[in-house]
Amino acid sequence: MERELVKLQNLPIDTFTFDEALEYTKKGQVITINPEMIFYASKHPEFANIIKEAELVIPDGIGVQIGLKILGHNVRRIAGIEFGRKILEKYSAENKTCALIGAKPEVIEKAVENLQKEVKNINIVYSHDGYFKDDSEILNNLTARCPDVVLTALGAPKQEEFNYKAKKLLPNTLFIGVGGSFDVWAGVVKRAPKIYQKLGIEWLYRTVKEPKRFRRIFPTLPLFVIKVLKERIIGV
Ligand code: UDP
Repeated sequence: MERELVKLQNLPIDTFTFDEALEYTKKGQVITINPEMIFYASKHPEFANIIKEAELVIPDGIGVQIGLKILGHNVRRIAGIEFGRKILEKYSAENKTCALIGAKPEVIEKAVENLQKEVKNINIVYSHDGYFKDDSEILNNLTARCPDVVLTALGAPKQEEFNYKAKKLLPNTLFIGVGGSFDVWAGVVKRAPKIYQKLGIEWLYRTVKEPKRFRRIFPTLPLFVIKVLKERIIGV
């Protein structure tokens, strides 16, 4: 299968469906991109470079889907949390090993416990919380255990920077940044009801539940739409 990329704000985005992305993904770095990350990339060229070098960039969230639509591309969003979970299930069914890095110590512990109960045949060879100062010990442990897939939940851009570094050390491993997924899998945070997910307004539910997120979304989201409209009219 060949990648079919489109550009959004000078960044490559894959156009695979969920199932195609699942089949395509074998190793390297998967980035589940959202408008905040695109905004951050416009100010930090080294982060933009990480996105450009990623093996797969999937549009996570309605913002990116709308941005692509403005440019005339019909690409469906792929929720990172669902993609990460499906990858874990697929890899486990194939007797492959996994590692999980991120979230608070009690959260990662509970997420691991739940996954061990819920995902058939899962083999977690390494896990660590996401509040470390020096990543060298974690990178050493990862290289020693050489898992087939590593999920990192450190928030962006931290998880993408970590994955970028780690993929150079483990070229046959798959790395996915999954944001707040471990909190959900640990049962600490609830996902929005299905209707919000369907309408693509999960962000609205999360913002109402956790008002401090408001500052992260506004003004980023409207500014993002304005920038993409400008991209459509006069190019970037
Ligand atoms: N997190 C972490 N280390 C850090 C900062 C955050 O492990 O230094 C974790 C945090 O506990 C949470 C996850 O990163 O589990 C994602 O956080 P957030 O909800 O901000 O990310 P989003 O899903 O919005 O990208």
